[in-house]
Amino acid sequence: MIIIKSLEFGPIGTNSVLLTCSETKKTAIVDAPQGCVDTWKKMGLDVEMILFTHSHWDHIADAAALKREFKAPIYVHKADAPNLERPGSDGLQLHFPIEGVKADHYLEEGQELILGNLTIKVLHTPGHSPGGVCFLIGDQLISGDTLFRGAIGRIDLPTSDPAKMKESLKKLSKLPKNTRVYPGHGGSTTIGEEL
Ligand SMILES: [Zn+2]
Ligand SMILES: [Zn+2]
Repeated sequence: MIIIKSLEFGPIGTNSVLLTCSETKKTAIVDAPQGCVDTWKKMGLDVEMILFTHSHWDHIADAAALKREFKAPIYVHKADAPNLERPGSDGLQLHFPIEGVKADHYLEEGQELILGNLTIKVLHTPGHSPGGVCFLIGDQLISGDTLFRGAIGRIDLPTSDPAKMKESLKKLSKLPKNTRVYPGHGGSTTIGEEL
């Protein structure tokens, strides 16, 4: 079974999400907002991987620190990897200096990551950013900044693409209505509520 813990960090309330296999206790950390490393390192986590829904500054601020702390590999979609390496190169202004870090693995559409007894499926959902992805674990979806409770992600940013966003939302709308959605900002919802 999966245990999901989502906590908000940083100046604009960005969620970092823990995905834990209840049987093996193996954990994936999704996104690294500023300050999350201080909280997660106190929890004695067995971190297997650090995953990124996308590379906007508010999601990657603690990426390098998380990697140092847990010595786990970093996964991001190739199209969002440059901004993880050189924060701010996507044209968004940084609110504070952010240390860049290289990805260890690139995420791809349809890829399946194994975490203990869990399978994490990667859905490429570009639009908010070119390398935006969602993670589907059974009937639980980690949606990043693609879908929020009562809203969708911004499509007016330098690397946004409204047409691709429309396609990505269409893709998510085909998931079962009872799929629980954990967004990059704010509380959880379901696909049915957002339809
Ligand atoms: Zn974003
Ligand atoms: Zn965000």
